[in-house]
Formats: sequence, C-alpha cells, structure tokens
Amino acid sequence: MSDFDYDLFVIGAGSGGVRAARTAAAAGARVAVAEDRYLGGTCVNVGCVPKKLYSYAAHFHDAFDDSAGFGWTLAEAPRFEWTTLRDNKVSEIKRLNGIYANLLDNAGVRLIHGRARVQDAHHVEVAGERLSAEKILVAVGGWPWVPDFPGNEHVVTSNEVFDLEHFPERFLVLGGGYIAVEFASIFNGLGSDTHLIYRGELFLRGFDQEVREFTRDEMDKKGVQVHFGTNIERIDRGENGLAVTLTSGERLEVDAVLAATGRRPNLADLGLDTLGVALNSDSSLAVNARFETSVPSILALGDVSGGPELTPVALAEAMQLVQHHFGDTPPPPLDYERIATAVFCHPNIGTVGLSEDAARERYGAIRVYRTDFRPLKHTLSGSQERCLMKLIVDDASDVVVGAHMVGEEAGEVIQGIAIAVRAGLTKADFDATVGIHPTGAEEFVTLRTPSRH
Ligand code: NDP
Repeated sequence: MSDFDYDLFVIGAGSGGVRAARTAAAAGARVAVAEDRYLGGTCVNVGCVPKKLYSYAAHFHDAFDDSAGFGWTLAEAPRFEWTTLRDNKVSEIKRLNGIYANLLDNAGVRLIHGRARVQDAHHVEVAGERLSAEKILVAVGGWPWVPDFPGNEHVVTSNEVFDLEHFPERFLVLGGGYIAVEFASIFNGLGSDTHLIYRGELFLRGFDQEVREFTRDEMDKKGVQVHFGTNIERIDRGENGLAVTLTSGERLEVDAVLAATGRRPNLADLGLDTLGVALNSDSSLAVNARFETSVPSILALGDVSGGPELTPVALAEAMQLVQHHFGDTPPPPLDYERIATAVFCHPNIGTVGLSEDAARERYGAIRVYRTDFRPLKHTLSGSQERCLMKLIVDDASDVVVGAHMVGEEAGEVIQGIAIAVRAGLTKADFDATVGIHPTGAEEFVTLRTPSRH
C-alpha cells in the first residue's frame, strides 16, 4: 500500500469516472471521486438518458397518426404537455443520481462534492482539503461550445434545452452533428415548428453519404425545415421572440435557439495548465495507450481525452485503464475503428464500420448491397416513412466492413450486426444466417445482389 491518501483520485463522476472508480476499488484500490455538479455526468443528466426519453415522447406524434389505419380512433386530439415530460424527466434523473451515489458508496469509494484542482503530479485540492494520490484520473468530460456572433447570449445549449420553462412553439437548431439532428427531430415530433441551420451542404459529416441524404429526405418528410449552406449572422430579441438573421439574408422568428455546435474539453480551473500537461490539437488531453498524460501519474479518459465522445467508449476505456494500472495483465488494445453508434434522429440512424466512400478508399474493390423499402407497418399506417439498409463488403476478402441503417430502432438492429462486423464475418456468413420473419432486420441477411461495385 502506498503512502498516499488514495491510490486513485478521480475528478469527475460521469460515466467513465464512476466506472473507473468502482472497478479500481473492486480491484483493491483506495479510491476517492470529486464531482462539482451532478452524479452520472453528461450522459445521465443532460445527454443520452434524457435525450432518449424525449425522443420516445416525440415518437408518439407519429404513433398517434399511424394508429388510424389499424382501426384506432382517438377520443380527442392528442395534446402534449411539456411540463409533464420535463418534470417526469427531472424525477427520473434524480432517481438515477441516487443510484450512482449508492454504487460509489457500495464500492467503498469516497465521494467529495466540489471542483478539484490538481496542484502537482500527486496532489489535489478539493472542498478545502489537500489530498494526495498515487494516480489522478481526469474524467471531466466536455462542455458545449457556442460560436461567437452578435446575440449568441440568447441561445441555449444541450445543458439547458431539457429544462426550458416554456415549450418553444417555434424552434431553431444550429449545427449539423448528432445533437442538432436529434433535437430537430425531438422538437419537431413534440409539435414545434422546427428549423435546422447547417453551414455545410449536407449535415452529419463523416457518416455514409447515402445515409446522410436519406436522413435529410426523411426528416424533410416529417416536417423539419433544413437550411444548408448558411449560418446564423445575428440574433435579436424582439417583441415576438428571437429574430434570427441568417448569412443567406433570410430572417426567422423563433421562441428558442439551440446551439449544437460541438463540445470542448471541460478543463477550466483544473490546474493542469500550470503543470504543462500536453494537449492534442483540439485541446483535449493527449494520452498514451495506458491513458497516461505527459505527466504519467495523471491519467485521462472519455470526452476530455479526444476519442469518440460516446458513453460506451468512456466505459470501455475505464475498464482498460483499471486493468492497466490495477490489474495483473495488460488488456488487448481497444478497437476504436468498429465502434457502432446510433443517432436518435427520426427515423434513427445505426451504423458500424466504414462508410461506402471510406471503404472504397481503403480497399479499392468493394461490393455495396443496399435496399430501401416501406416497412410492413406502414402499409396500413399510411406513413410515407422508408427504411434504408446497406452492407459494404471488401470484394477481395468478402468481409463485411460496414453496415448502415436508417429506420425505426436502427440502433437496436445495428447493435447485433456490430458483433458480426467486429468479428470480421464475411458476406457468406451473413448469407448463411437464416432470417427472422417478418422483421425489417432480416433484410441484412437476405441481400443477395450487389447494388454496385
Ligand atoms: P458535433 O461535433 O457532432 O457537431 C457539431 C456541428 O456544429 C457540426 O455540424 C459542425 O459543422 C457545426 N459547427 C461547428 N462550429 C460551427 C460554427 N462556428 N458555426 C456553425 N456551425 C458550426 O457536435 P455535437 O454538439 O452535435 O455533439 C457532440 C458530440 O457528442 C458528438 O460528436 C457525439 O460524439 C456526442 N453525441 C453522441 C450522441 C449519440 O451517441 N447518439 C448524441 C449526442 C451527442 P461541420 O460539420 O461543418 O464541422
């Protein structure tokens, strides 16, 4: 046992920090965690969890419409009450905060409320205490970033949008990433007149081109008004809400503007600058394969260290970190390349592996199997929603190197497909798999003819 107060001092009780703290404690380490906001971090409080709850709420809009073709008549027109959703969400998140506190407590981890400041390679100061630790883990996550333009003080970010006092009948989202398309879909589904403003020519940069185009068309069908190739020039508060002037010259009047323009490492006031800890070009903390920064006793993981900003990545990194520093044998390196992800726009996107363009660049000869179809449910619902499924195969090896879907529950479907892609299975393996009928997902094992090479 070391002479330090703790073997591991974790700064930040988000997904990665809590997982690292609990797992290290289970491996016998003496662990403390400092947290200055809420237990569970972004994911639990202002990210994945409330977002998915609001996405469920928004889906009812379509469900009410769809039900008529199946024989249902609603006694009266459905009405949406923002405060019910918001307040139920608040109670649920409180419950989850409590669960996180119990998890730490049961693991024997000391929880300290306050923003910790790193004083040197082995000391932190928090809530008036100076504590020593053999290793300090920085797991403070990210923070929304808002571009500079006149009137940007009128925008909200994903930190505030869940708790708006009044429901925005007219809603505008700036950005073209995950958060922008998800919240455009959510507020559109909840009944807002919704605009999405994106500076580039097509949103979701980095995703498969066909997925991006298909998603644009589906969101358009659902009523989201997308404006590409433009940006916000200024926002003025007027008598009728917020007047948003776009660089295209267009003016829109709305009740709320969400800036979903990316997140930055939440490093303010941590004291790491005075220690000269090395940063990546995007100002995240640079770490090696053992999650050590340039000061080896200071570790970092999750959003603050610049990897894919996804909760399951932070969790996986936490498990790896603990194995490296408190386990008997070092783990095999994490495979960052074939991490499946979902975007909870409506309809959802699920994706794993390479896009068609990236696969073509890497392998040269590829086969693309794709289909888009009207799901069985919508033959009676009358909805025009369609579903896209796509497999990308390296022609030489027959290995499936990418799988993409836009459609209902795409995340649920792609999670299973991700195991096959991660395992390096071939198209022949997919073909040899007998489908489940009648599902949409069976298309992934019945695609026989390449759409293009
Ligand atoms: P992203 O980095 O995904 O997207 C930021 C968007 O803002 C991009 O479209 C970018 O445009 C645009 N942008 C950047 N700067 C400006 C500017 N100055 N003016 C106008 N537009 C600008 O960030 P998000 O905020 O959407 O999400 C952060 C991260 O959180 C995601 O990358 C993701 O990893 C994670 N996340 C994951 C979710 C999930 O798993 N379902 C859900 C939500 C978030 P351009 O493309 O041109 O650079």
